[in-house]
Amino acid sequence: CGIVGYVGSKDALEVVLEGLRRLEYRGYDSAGVAVRVDGAAELSTAKKAGKLANLEKVLADQPLPASTLGIGHTRWATHGGPTDRNAHPHLSADGRVAVIHNGIIENFAALRAECEDAGTEFRSETDTEVAAHLLARAYDELPAGPDRLAEALRAVSRRLEGAFTLVAAHADEPDTLVASRRNSPLVVGVGDGEYFLGSDVAAFIAHTREARELGQDQVVEIDRTRGLTVTDFHGTAVEPVAYTVDWDA
Ligand code: GLU
Repeated sequence: CGIVGYVGSKDALEVVLEGLRRLEYRGYDSAGVAVRVDGAAELSTAKKAGKLANLEKVLADQPLPASTLGIGHTRWATHGGPTDRNAHPHLSADGRVAVIHNGIIENFAALRAECEDAGTEFRSETDTEVAAHLLARAYDELPAGPDRLAEALRAVSRRLEGAFTLVAAHADEPDTLVASRRNSPLVVGVGDGEYFLGSDVAAFIAHTREARELGQDQVVEIDRTRGLTVTDFHGTAVEPVAYTVDWDA
């Protein structure tokens, strides 16, 4: 339903929760966040059914470690009931990959069967979780390199049918978030040394009005040092449409 991503130097959790609050008008049944912990190659997540206030209570009781890279999601359940377990982010089996998703992955059942045949145990009933497992595998199969996570997401996106905005973080990638879209919206916010992802500009309007709109079947990488890179699902570079958000927040 609502999607927020942040890479920069601010407190990522704060930025992400602020974005989720601004997306609340869309309606949702659960919420969750994941951050890549500063100075440690690990992700930390929290998710909870119900209003954002429920998630905020969990975070108050068990604060996440400091982070400057994070993602957040408000869910409108389509596959699997509105439970804590089905809330996003969804993690790969080894916990190294976190994924949030808007939309419906139409061919998830076949992909899930393929993962289960390979020994992967699923923790949710969502169509989304399969993307986390496939992405972890695609990443592990690629050689180390600057756009490894983006390349892995392109490979996964080529296999997915239906509608998706997907955003992913990896424990081994301290500076990078990647996102992909098909039949579902995704916008990028460009700040001063910081980047935002949103299902809607409301996700980052408090921080920047400089936006890039992603086209159909495109993948974006936002990286602390390399900046913004957009390609199609096959890796061909694309120049995103730039615009300035001119409505009042
Ligand atoms: N189909 C996914 C789910 O049910 C995503 C729903 C959404 O867009 O929030 O978890």
